[in-house]
Amino acid sequence: MTNIVGIDLGTTFSAISRVEEAGKPKIVPNKDGKNITPSVVEFLDDGNVLVGDEAKKSIGYNDENIVQEVKRSMGEDVTYEHFGKTHTPITISSMILKKLKQDFEAVYGEITSVVVTVPANFTNEAREATKKAAELAGLKLEHTINEPTAAALAYALQSESNLNGKYAIYDLGGGTFDCTIATIKDKNIDVETSEGVNKLGGKDFDEKITEIVSSKFKEATGQDLNPKEFTPNDAEDIKISLSSKDKAKARVAGQVLDVTREEFEAATSTLISKAEMSVEAALRNVGIDASGIEDVILVGGSTRMPMVVESLKKMFGKEPKLFGNPDESVALGASIYAAHNTDSEDLNPLQRQQMQNFSLTEAAPFYFGTIYHDTDLGKERVRNIINKDEKIPCEFSDNFVTRHDNQTQVDCSVTQAGADIDDPAMVKVIWDGLLDLPAGRPAGQQITITYGYKEDGTMTCSFLDVASGSVRDIDLTIGSDGGKPLEDDFDPDAFQVD
Ligand code: ADP
Ligand code: MG
Repeated sequence: MTNIVGIDLGTTFSAISRVEEAGKPKIVPNKDGKNITPSVVEFLDDGNVLVGDEAKKSIGYNDENIVQEVKRSMGEDVTYEHFGKTHTPITISSMILKKLKQDFEAVYGEITSVVVTVPANFTNEAREATKKAAELAGLKLEHTINEPTAAALAYALQSESNLNGKYAIYDLGGGTFDCTIATIKDKNIDVETSEGVNKLGGKDFDEKITEIVSSKFKEATGQDLNPKEFTPNDAEDIKISLSSKDKAKARVAGQVLDVTREEFEAATSTLISKAEMSVEAALRNVGIDASGIEDVILVGGSTRMPMVVESLKKMFGKEPKLFGNPDESVALGASIYAAHNTDSEDLNPLQRQQMQNFSLTEAAPFYFGTIYHDTDLGKERVRNIINKDEKIPCEFSDNFVTRHDNQTQVDCSVTQAGADIDDPAMVKVIWDGLLDLPAGRPAGQQITITYGYKEDGTMTCSFLDVASGSVRDIDLTIGSDGGKPLEDDFDPDAFQVD
């Protein structure tokens, strides 16, 4: 049996979907029968790990042995120590993937092809880190897909009406917010731009609930709230109740405290405004105003909050579109993409028919440039080689010249930024190194820099000394800086995931 699968490896919740024999994608519940699995890992003293609901229940009680929101650190140099072992965002993510894989395979058998989703604004390193995590989990990952694109794909394939125009995908999840604008014509999706706030999601709303409850508790008892008596999970439960009710009860240390939706909305209005500002930035990038958007598509569990729908109604003058469960569409879209990438001989006729006639074009998530010396200004500046929102795949070159006679080296850097900035202090340098040049030449030797951005979201960079033909090809993959990646010592079979 072919098991064509898509995995949404989320900041707070993950989900797995399978393309059924009839050609439609469907979420596969975990062992506990839940469609979504918390992306929470708890280390146990016997060397094994718990992933999902059981691990999440320990939040507030066993925090020193818990890792959550690890997705925010993907591609970064962070480590976690637990029971004498060092873990990284990659190894922790691999445990979450292993749990999803295990629960899936217990029912359907081995996964034959898989796509894992990544945020549109993930860096090259974070994408590489995701691939590595999949590999450690024993998944043969050939493709990733950007989350908003996956959601758009699920929407386009499920839509009853013919789509034609610009659509906004509004994804407010547990930890991050993204707004993507895509041109969709039937089943052809052309991503125009993405904007977002890295740290804005359900967790921030939960914290506001805790603040409200803690001040009410203080008022009622004169005492400070004990975090063990009102955990982040309790706050989340109240928040979720307030999506369908005007009032919810917080039970803390024998006290019953009422929290109203009105109080909650007042306390979180600045969070909603932040999301609104991102939506406006995305519209500006595309050069349209809200009336140019055909429909707004809701993605992410936090879009169940009525205040999100209200905010969007106000901005766009129409009801946003909810199809199915907003926390499942990314995984559904990922499995459709996995089928799209599967050899058509491995699909049955129904699956083949469903997967035909669609296309995807992504946009570059950042400005990628280089730092050079501007002789007119007498200072270092950034020149962008690939602009944000450039359609990918793409390749661009730019020419620079050496500054000094007998110059034997040139400093090569790759910069990344969310905006068109020329001040080197304001951009992130993602690679830095030297290109050796032959001695004895005058200044003014041409150096050609070429950047490419591939369909799979990875970048290629090369620095060429034109006269000598000497090239420095840059490898932006993890571990390419010479250090031995910690993950090399990680044995995925040395512990059990449950
Ligand atoms: P991720 O960001 O990890 O991809 P999801 O899209 O599943 O996650 O969103 C998870 C967030 O959605 C959590 O913060 C959760 O509390 C929130 N959420 C889920 N259901 C509701 C609801 N009914 N009302 C408010 N928030 C909700
Ligand atoms: Mg998500």
